[in-house]
Amino acid sequence: MWLTDGKQSLLLEGERIARVEEGARGLRLEAITPGLQDAHAHPLYWGMALRGLDLTGVASPEEAAERVAAAARGLPPGSWVEGRGFLFPKPPPPGLLDRAAPGHPVCLRSRDHHSAWINRLAAQQAGLGPGAEPPEGGAFLRDPEGVPYYLLERAQEALEPHLPPPSPEDLRRGLQDFAQRGYTAVHALGYEPPEALDWALALELPVRLWWALPRGAWRGRRPGWYGDLHLAGVKFFADGALGSRTAWMHTPYPDGSLGMPLDGLEVLKEEGKEALKAGFTLAVHAIGTRAVAGVLGVFQELAPLARAKGLTLRLEHVQHVRKEELPRFQGLPLALSLQPLHLLLDQHLVRAYGFPPEEAFRFRSLWATGLPLAFGSDAPVAKPEYAENLLAATQHPLCPEESLPPEAVLWAHTEGAARAAGWGDYGRLAPGLRADLTLWEGGRPVGRVYRGRLELF
Ligand SMILES: [Zn+2]
Repeated sequence: MWLTDGKQSLLLEGERIARVEEGARGLRLEAITPGLQDAHAHPLYWGMALRGLDLTGVASPEEAAERVAAAARGLPPGSWVEGRGFLFPKPPPPGLLDRAAPGHPVCLRSRDHHSAWINRLAAQQAGLGPGAEPPEGGAFLRDPEGVPYYLLERAQEALEPHLPPPSPEDLRRGLQDFAQRGYTAVHALGYEPPEALDWALALELPVRLWWALPRGAWRGRRPGWYGDLHLAGVKFFADGALGSRTAWMHTPYPDGSLGMPLDGLEVLKEEGKEALKAGFTLAVHAIGTRAVAGVLGVFQELAPLARAKGLTLRLEHVQHVRKEELPRFQGLPLALSLQPLHLLLDQHLVRAYGFPPEEAFRFRSLWATGLPLAFGSDAPVAKPEYAENLLAATQHPLCPEESLPPEAVLWAHTEGAARAAGWGDYGRLAPGLRADLTLWEGGRPVGRVYRGRLELF
């Protein structure tokens, strides 16, 4: 099969690129790039976020309730009606969902996932009656009889054990959504339950998967390729997140705290050494400046072992970096996995906390270290939208001089991500390499080639 963008043409044979030639031959598209990768995602949770009703853009609570009533009519009595994506200027009034679906527990999540709107039956199943008190970090709105119907922040946690649990179908749905957006590979960054790996191994995968297991869960597993799944990494958490004030910083938060280390640098060093010896690389979540500085120190110590094993270490998020740390990146066997689109929301936190804007999301400075950048979305934290990463990385809202050119964003979603994955035969248009491609018209993915098969959306 020949494909062309009008300037050059690719001959695909089986799952490989056989030839690259000047001139136009075969099926013509506006642009053909190596297959897009999302270098940091949680496909199981993305699939869970996609289940149920999509209430994005629904104008009023009444309209949402009508959609719930219609959905409930098609479901067996007692089964959950789930939904997501609503955003109203003020919380919905009580009672609507009780009238809409009296025989079904209902749980609707707001677009930002910071609140859940439920009905009586859901409250009953979660043990939330008039006497219930919200946990620390959470709040309720109650109906006239005192039963919670709108759960804010951590109050949503009471619901979790009662909702339908994650399933292989959620993983399949999540991965399929990436495929339909033009992605050919996804890096799953070890937050899913360990059994999700077995679900993935049993699926016919619509994308190639790079897989990291949670800390501890790698023991007894063997790294390597299993069909289209590359079991490759172990995920550690050096700190928390900015929104919860748990990212571990040098500059204090407004309340004087500095965030906190999670797994601890000693643990990272000791278990990390064992995992490397077993052939797994390390993917370490580090958001705050102090977490990044600490992990760099550990990586400097582990670098000789990683090199001897032919493994590329990974730093995930790398969101806040002090200037004095930049020279310490150079020369490490390391890839930097970032999610530029988080900047679109986190810029407000950076401003509100008074953190130095020049330390946040330093795309250009990190690019200048010479290490590969790999871009992803952290879905379900954000939608896996290439266009959003492109916007955030090319028009840095806090520090314009840290912006990247568009070509670098594409590189970080293709060759950079392939380097982070340790895939030498992926992410470039060259003879002998894997023929996973993304096809573009009008600046948007309109199709892909996956495992040598052409798909137009
Ligand atoms: Zn993540």
